[in-house]
Amino acid sequence: MADSNFLTEHNARHVWHPMAHPAEMRANPPTIISAGEGAEIIDVDGKRLLDGVGGLWNVNLGYSCDPVKQAITTQLGELPYYSAFRGTTNGPLIELSVALAEFFAADGMVRSFFTSGGSDSVETALRLARQFHKLNGQPERTKFVSLKKGYHGTHFGGASVNGNQNFRRAYEPLLPGTIHLASPYTYRNPFNTDDPKVLADSIARQFADEIAFHGADTIAALIMEPVLGAGGVIVPHESLMPALRALCDKHGILLIADEVITAFGRTGAWSGSRLWGVKPDMMCTAKAITNGYFPFGAVMIGEKVTEVFENDRTAMGSIGHGYTYSGHPVGAAAAIVCLAETVKQDLATNAAERGIELLEGLETLKARYPLVGDVRGKGLMCALELVSNRDDKAPAAKDKVAQVYKGAYEAGVMIRTSGNNIILSPTLIISKQDVSRILEALEAGLKSAAN
Ligand code: PMP
Repeated sequence: MADSNFLTEHNARHVWHPMAHPAEMRANPPTIISAGEGAEIIDVDGKRLLDGVGGLWNVNLGYSCDPVKQAITTQLGELPYYSAFRGTTNGPLIELSVALAEFFAADGMVRSFFTSGGSDSVETALRLARQFHKLNGQPERTKFVSLKKGYHGTHFGGASVNGNQNFRRAYEPLLPGTIHLASPYTYRNPFNTDDPKVLADSIARQFADEIAFHGADTIAALIMEPVLGAGGVIVPHESLMPALRALCDKHGILLIADEVITAFGRTGAWSGSRLWGVKPDMMCTAKAITNGYFPFGAVMIGEKVTEVFENDRTAMGSIGHGYTYSGHPVGAAAAIVCLAETVKQDLATNAAERGIELLEGLETLKARYPLVGDVRGKGLMCALELVSNRDDKAPAAKDKVAQVYKGAYEAGVMIRTSGNNIILSPTLIISKQDVSRILEALEAGLKSAAN
């Protein structure tokens, strides 16, 4: 590989990075990552870092999962690509759909629709929800409801149900007919309560109120993350998702669980829906489905939606939606082995156990450093919210957040910043010692920002 100066110079000249300002990328060049091993990554200068980000919430099995690499290599040798559009299919995608139906049986899922990633999965679920209602004789059900801090990817449908204005404003107008509810964000919310149950009840009442206002017969689906990720790791009270599910049932609204982050063990449960004892109508998955080794995703579809499509005999029932890479044999081969490894290594249990240790450690840091305003987490998805003042909760200045990042980096741990949040989503194979390493590096970062 070329030397790091050459790469940095050409990166600045030729590359536009996702979720970044081109000018800022030139002023503050990104770190070039050149290798990964176990739970660690290595930068172009040879510095080893424990990966506190897990790629991007997706490398659950770490960087050295040889069975998955082998499955990819073998499949590339046998059949590197063929389309799954009407007329042809392939072995790995069929085998994967069987494994996924078994894995998600407890969530009530029976079928898979394959995609190339999370945004594709969200787009697919939104479209299928509208089509479901048309086939079901309720064509006016076209609107979508979501949570204000929700993140559902970057396609126009997903961006429309997203809550963060940074992902919306420059691209408006978005899809009409999207309704946003408050988030279960106890630290800041319009109901002015820090009681998670009171907040959950208020959000459910808001949903009921919006249903009454718009008319249930205009609403296609509610889409939500069981634990909100990119919005700053927001963990709802256990009653929220069941309460919203009950309202969906009462009013004929589909529930789409966006499990792009939460499926496959990250929260300490095998799915986020299962964590709250809810069966959604569809589940969006991606990310850890292939451990980040191949771009891939699946929308899991439950019995109710399946039946309506299966029983339809009109032209409207044909799924007029699909990607060139839907059911890619290499991605499917990777996913089959990922799923088997995930279960074999019982990653959900490790996420739950290490998650408790990590959250406890973060609470200790909060007690020591006034810069930390709030700490949140479930399993191995956690966040620290940095504030310049605990009384008025004013978000910490950009340079303070950057200092924490730099301090942690120098101490050998990669963390992620998002606004005034520090996000932690390490691989699910980390040990107790790794948790201590993350906490020590974070403390080094907080200390340097406090000076
Ligand atoms: N939904 C959720 C909940 C996500 O976290 C993400 C990605 N972080 C997406 C959808 C979009 O996935 P992708 O970036 O793979 O398109």
